[in-house]
Order: sequence, then structure tokens, then C-alpha cells
Amino acid sequence: EGKPAKLSGRRARREKELKKKMRTGTFESLGLSNPVLRAIKRQGYRLPTPIQRRTLPLILQGSDIIGMARTGSGKTAAFVIPMVEKWVILVLALVLVSLLTGTWHQATRPLCLARRLQSHSPKAGARAVLLSPTRELALQTHKAVRDLARYTDLRTAVLVGGDALEAQFAELANNPDVLVATPGRLLHHLAEVEGLGLRSVEYCVVDEADRMFEMGFAEQVREILGKMTDRRQTLLFSATLPSSLAEFASAGLTAPQLVRLDSER
Ligand code: ADP
Ligand code: MG
Repeated sequence: EGKPAKLSGRRARREKELKKKMRTGTFESLGLSNPVLRAIKRQGYRLPTPIQRRTLPLILQGSDIIGMARTGSGKTAAFVIPMVEKWVILVLALVLVSLLTGTWHQATRPLCLARRLQSHSPKAGARAVLLSPTRELALQTHKAVRDLARYTDLRTAVLVGGDALEAQFAELANNPDVLVATPGRLLHHLAEVEGLGLRSVEYCVVDEADRMFEMGFAEQVREILGKMTDRRQTLLFSATLPSSLAEFASAGLTAPQLVRLDSER
């Protein structure tokens, strides 16, 4: 009978520690891995912005969220940092599998082996989809992913209108882990490229969602989400939350937590 009490005491202590860490509000206190912390430092980010401080712990623990904060508040890194962190954890898990299955000796570099294990899996496909309303915003998001994933081997493809389809076909043939896309061009590729699907997607972001809706992409976004499994984590970021968007979120997200910073300062 003494045991459960001891366990819950330990859990209480752990939770207290976690809360204390979150209060300190540094990137380090979130327990991010080294490749991610180094990339953040290299970007010159000293502390998380308010929206990052509020959303990062929730996203890291796997919750669906609606993140609302004004333009320029750092929403991009709020969803890119946890995405890269989840990738690093996955690679570590694959390395562990290789050790347990005795294929470790084949590795020249652990990360190469992890990559090989992953790409040989018949289920390999993009793990994350980041949707932007415009070509320019998608390119900005892609740059943020490249920057924050610079110390990992994460592979990305950008699928936006205005670029040659052939170059994008080539990128897709490379088995990218992350697709950064505008809805129209992504749907085009899904229709054209054989074997390209979204059932492997575990992490989906609808960024600049208010603009996405203003531009009339709601139906396309809905169609894209419909091609993913319900196991995915879905995040919606927006500067404003009109009722049409709130309705959309309650359909496309699972028990989303609303993180809203109203400071229009
Ligand atoms: P939003 O999408 O909310 O409009 P962005 O994600 O484009 O904002 O970020 C705005 C700017 O803030 C970018 O130049 C980005 O590099 C910078 N930034 C993001 N996070 C931080 C941080 N923690 N510290 C300093 N600058 C940051
Ligand atoms: Mg943004």
C-alpha cells in the first residue's frame, strides 16, 4: 500500500519541476535537443516570444492547438521548432531500433542509417505538411525550416505555384519528410504524382489561416486534411479568429487548445 503513495509523490515532484521550468521561459527549459537548441541560438533567438512560450510545451506534448497572435509575433518558429524536435526524436528512436536489431554495424554514420531505415519502409512518406496561403509565405516558412533544421538531415520540398512542376516532381522523388505548400499546388501534385499520398502525415499546420480563408482556400484545405489520417496532430495559426475559422477548426482539429494573445501592442 505504500507504493502508490510513493509513485504519486514522485509524479507530483516531476510536475512541479516541469511547471517551474516552464515559468523560467527559456528554450533550454523546454528540454529541446542539442541540434535544435544550436539552430535556435544560431538564429540569434535568445528567448521564446510570448506565443512561442505558450504554444511550444503544448505542441511538444502532442496537443492540437489554435495559436492566435498578431503578425510578427514569431508564429512560424512556434510550429517549426517542435516539428524539428519531433524529427530528431524519431531519428534517435530509429537508431535505437538499429542497435536492438543488430544492424548498427552497417552504419557509417548513425543518421545515415536512420535515414535508410526510414526510406526503406514501404510506409515512408512525408511526415509533416505546412500549408501557407501564398507562394511568398510558403517560401518564408521553408527558409525557417531550413534554418532551424540545419543540424539535422530533415528533407523538405516546396510545392508552390509559379515554379516549374518538373523541379517539384524531382523534389518529391527525393522522398521528402516535410512538404511546405500552397493548397492549390499540393492538390495538383496529389492528383498527378503516382504514389504520393498524405496518409503518413503526423503533423499538419494551417498557417495564416485567416488569410487562407479570405483567399477562398477553405475547401481546398478541408480536402487536404481529408486525405490524412485522424492520428495526425493539427495546428492552426492565425492573426484573427473569425467565426467561420473557429467552425473549421472544431471540425478539422481534435480537442484543440486555444492559445490567444490579445495584446495588439
Ligand atoms: P508571424 O508569423 O507571427 O507573423 P514570424 O514567424 O514571421 O511572425 O516572425 C517574425 C520575426 O521574428 C521573424 O523575423 C523571426 O525570425 C523573428 N523571431 C521569431 N522567433 C524569435 C525569437 N524567439 N526571438 C527573436 N526573434 C524571433
Ligand atoms: Mg506567419
